[in-house]
Amino acid sequence: MARLKNVLIVGGGTAGWLTACYLAKAVNAVDPRSVQVHLVESPDIGLLGVGEATFPSIRGTLAAIGLDERRFLVGATATYKQGIHYRHWVRPPGAPGADHFFHPFNAPSQRPGGPELLPYWLLGAAPHGMPFADAVSMQTTVAEHGRGPKRTRDGDYQGPMNHAFHFDAACFARVLAEHGQQALGVVRHAATVERAERDARGGIARVVTKEEGELTADLYVDCTGLRGLLVGQVMQSPFRRRADVLFADRAIAMQVPYDTPDAPIPSYTISTAQEAGWIWDIGLQRRRGTGYVYASRHTCDDRAEAVFRQYLGKAGEGGNATHLQFETGYRPEPWRKNCVAIGLAGGFVEPLESTGIALIELASYLLTHLLPGDTDGMDGAARHFNEMMGARYERIIDFIKMHYCLSQRRDSAFWIDNRDLASIPDTLRDKLAKWKHRPPHRLDFITDLEMFMPCSWQYILYGMEFQTDLAPMRSAFPHMDAAREEFAMIQRAAGRALEDLPDHRAIIEQLCREY
Ligand code: FAD
Repeated sequence: MARLKNVLIVGGGTAGWLTACYLAKAVNAVDPRSVQVHLVESPDIGLLGVGEATFPSIRGTLAAIGLDERRFLVGATATYKQGIHYRHWVRPPGAPGADHFFHPFNAPSQRPGGPELLPYWLLGAAPHGMPFADAVSMQTTVAEHGRGPKRTRDGDYQGPMNHAFHFDAACFARVLAEHGQQALGVVRHAATVERAERDARGGIARVVTKEEGELTADLYVDCTGLRGLLVGQVMQSPFRRRADVLFADRAIAMQVPYDTPDAPIPSYTISTAQEAGWIWDIGLQRRRGTGYVYASRHTCDDRAEAVFRQYLGKAGEGGNATHLQFETGYRPEPWRKNCVAIGLAGGFVEPLESTGIALIELASYLLTHLLPGDTDGMDGAARHFNEMMGARYERIIDFIKMHYCLSQRRDSAFWIDNRDLASIPDTLRDKLAKWKHRPPHRLDFITDLEMFMPCSWQYILYGMEFQTDLAPMRSAFPHMDAAREEFAMIQRAAGRALEDLPDHRAIIEQLCREY
């Protein structure tokens, strides 16, 4: 039995530094330096640098690694995110009907002993025509009126509204790197890994760097991004492509200025559907981060850039657009022998619901908690890790595909192809078939394998105007009056929240001044 003493993380992007911080903090809680975490990052190879929107789990992760919230806000030029505002996803611009809906992070309101509101919304107890998300949660009102999710008096990563963050990816990696080295004892090597050598058991014996020669460890974490240097090139772990389900494989990104330095900052990601994909628009402290995610099968790069620039208007004039390519899919075996891939090296699903960084958080959590104290236990831990990660990927792919296949858009081949039954996984088709006759229930989900809770499925389903026919079950829902009163109470609470919560830009600036 050989005790696990050294971990070497290769790659210093969000995946590398987040994993380094999480692991170093957790495994050394009692005995500092019990496991030494090293990170090697290349001075010559840059970060991808576009992961700007996160999932609410990020608050727990940042709190767990002990990073002060104000320091994080200043260092990563972060802002708050309370959900996603979807435009033109249901129908194209100009078509009659609603042109947007909101996916809030707050779960639907549920008073102890009160009725579950979704069935009553389906049966028409909410104010006439009110969208599901607006009826069951006050967060849409709060976010769309420019309020932040918290007040200065709320503790670090706390606040009355569930939230995540938007941030500059390169700045975020820098804050984590400082914190990891200064507070958590992570040892950084500025070097480029040129190759890795295998040991007799098929694992990695050592990596060889240009600047520092050989580096060895008991466990190697591949965070080299889309390259997948160790897991792919050395360990030959295959990649499962899912482009047959999710068609996007390109992005154009651009950082653009606000119209004025004090322009309001939306506390939500804006996702605007286009002829061959969608555009993200994210408000950071001093600039917007924008990008068009599209399918090369359905448009060409020049046309995509023209569509993107038209969306940006004056803000995009003279701006440099960065073109990126990616493949949707994941490695069913991200952990092989003594090598585990985290981040883009392990897989990627297009960023519609900001799952990239959330999957890094999950992988760090799993690695930390499944990691055996002796190197002989590695294979069992790997099997467990691989099962959990694979299950998450498949469920995320279903969730993202649901956004596309429920659209009523028929204005381009991209949207028409997304309805093609052959492109919709059986698992998703089964769910949608059931939900025609009853709404999603927590029994449809295995909580430990899901990234998205049942309420997120509900927000997207009914935001996309999916029809569930509850009429035959009407007699199972006798509390129409109580439900009407609940809907009215949520509207009154939303009014009070607008008075209580500060302007989003104001709370960010205040917290940054206090650092
Ligand atoms: P990278 O950022 O590419 O970092 C790789 C690191 O490996 C670098 O430090 C590099 O120097 C190092 N490296 C590479 N080769 C070597 C070598 N040979 N030797 C030493 N070091 C090496 N995720 C979200 O959660 N939200 C989003 O909004 C979001 N938007 C996205 C938009 C697009 C278009 C794309 C493609 C991705 C998006 N993602 C998003 C995913 C997100 O960008 C990644 O999950 C995140 O950046 C993590 O990247 P990474 O650390 O795995 O890789």
